Amino acid sequence: MMHAARVHQAGGRFQVDTLARPKPRENDVVVAVKAAGVVPNLRNVMSNYGERAYLTVPELPAIYGLDAAGIVEDVGEMVSGIVPGDRVYINPGRSCGSCHACRSGDAINCPAYTFQGYFGFGPASQRIYKLYPYGGFSQYATAPASGLVKLPEQVSFEAAARFGYLGTAYSGLRKAGVGPGRTVLVNGASGTLGLGAVLLARAMGATSILGVARNRELLERVRAIDPARIHVLSAGDEPVGEWAHRLTGGVGVDAVLDTLGPGAPGQAMLDAITALRRGGRLVDVGGMNAPMQLNMHALMCAQVSLIGSLWFTVAEGEEMAAMAAAGTLDLSVLEHHRFPLGEVNEALALAEKRAGGFVNVVVMPSGQGE
Ligand SMILES: [Zn+2]
Repeated sequence: MMHAARVHQAGGRFQVDTLARPKPRENDVVVAVKAAGVVPNLRNVMSNYGERAYLTVPELPAIYGLDAAGIVEDVGEMVSGIVPGDRVYINPGRSCGSCHACRSGDAINCPAYTFQGYFGFGPASQRIYKLYPYGGFSQYATAPASGLVKLPEQVSFEAAARFGYLGTAYSGLRKAGVGPGRTVLVNGASGTLGLGAVLLARAMGATSILGVARNRELLERVRAIDPARIHVLSAGDEPVGEWAHRLTGGVGVDAVLDTLGPGAPGQAMLDAITALRRGGRLVDVGGMNAPMQLNMHALMCAQVSLIGSLWFTVAEGEEMAAMAAAGTLDLSVLEHHRFPLGEVNEALALAEKRAGGFVNVVVMPSGQGE
């Protein structure tokens, strides 16, 4: 048997229940979950039932928990590249495996794309919840072997529980063309997505990383990570476009990663667009949901691209793990706040305070990590 924290009613509290321990199907593994990330948006998702439903969520009672990392306990008979004892992160992105997008190697654009332990993008997600009902707030979870990122010993389970945010930022930075010799502006640089973007842009070789946010104290901590390459602006101190052009010899930045979340003002993204050079790209990963008035003529003439990016692939997760192993991706600035499985409610309350990107709230379902 095992313990799992489940939600029994829409928007309700987590309650620890005793359930049967899962066995792996042929292509699956069972992971003893050592750390699971706590996402501040979780309460919105947990409330998404009945008349409030706009996402596809697992039927109640449900085991939530988006970002799980742990030790492989058992593997199905078809699994060969993963063995019991492996340290892994479960990329929770599940797809149907056989539609046109999946067969094209583009699983994130599968119409059934679903986050195990969180929410999905359409009615086909319910079938995936039946197949993979275990979120991270469970002592054991099943996952397809193809959905695992192997963790080097340098990445703690607590840091791996942050891979969802980190990977979202990383995939967006890749789509923005960030790399050696490039400049990038991170909008919302002190938040959970934004701090990850700064760490990854640094790992990817970006020479100038411009961070915009509101909280001066947090921004100063972001700048202190690498004062030679990271420059920060407290929003409102100077127009973002003028500042970015001043720091880039009048050219503008190559890329903007916009991490602003739902509820942020559209003007903040419009301001960030003005920081781009001709031919620059803005990639949105934050989910800002305000309508914006865009001058498409000006964007066309300047060949500016606006790109939406969702989540990240297992391959991108493997790249992050390799960078962390090599030390080019330094996750040591994260401050882990650990909660036992019985205190998921308290963990969520702390995450909802949104104290900034340095705080990493995790639940430890199978005891302490390493
Ligand atoms: Zn598919």
